[in-house]
Amino acid sequence: MKKREVIELAHNLFLEHGLQNWKFKIYNRKRNFGTCFHSKQEIALSKYFIKYVESSEQVKQILLHEIAHALCDIDIGHGYEFKQKCMTINCIENMSSASFTLFYSEEAVYNIICPKCGVTGELYKKIKRMENAIQNNSKPFRCRKCRSECSIEHGAKNDL
Ligand SMILES: [Zn+2]
Ligand SMILES: [Zn+2]
Repeated sequence: MKKREVIELAHNLFLEHGLQNWKFKIYNRKRNFGTCFHSKQEIALSKYFIKYVESSEQVKQILLHEIAHALCDIDIGHGYEFKQKCMTINCIENMSSASFTLFYSEEAVYNIICPKCGVTGELYKKIKRMENAIQNNSKPFRCRKCRSECSIEHGAKNDL
């Protein structure tokens, strides 16, 4: 999804749910799709999540999840009260933050990224075929869990 579209979606949802004083940010975290910062009145989404996500509905669901946190007075986790709040704003209720975790490896030369499941694999050696795939933006892998076509991205070790 394009950054501009995500920002627009966030602002529309903020207005709809009475979060006029809240700010929206795109951050660099790789291990969360999104976070609600009560103290700063700020909701952030991961730029990696936005980049690899398949549908705008998924982005909307993550935004609604964080908005549900914002609408609960303090950070009460993902318990009963939170789930009630999710239901009132049409956020798929049983999502917990754990299911959003991107298992992004800092050790890998390449990360294999499923648009639905997050990082599903790592490669630890430089491979010509992978360099080509990144350059051509081709998708040579399918996710083991959901069979979606996966993107490849350079991991941190690629720069060494
Ligand atoms: Zn949460
Ligand atoms: Zn998958």
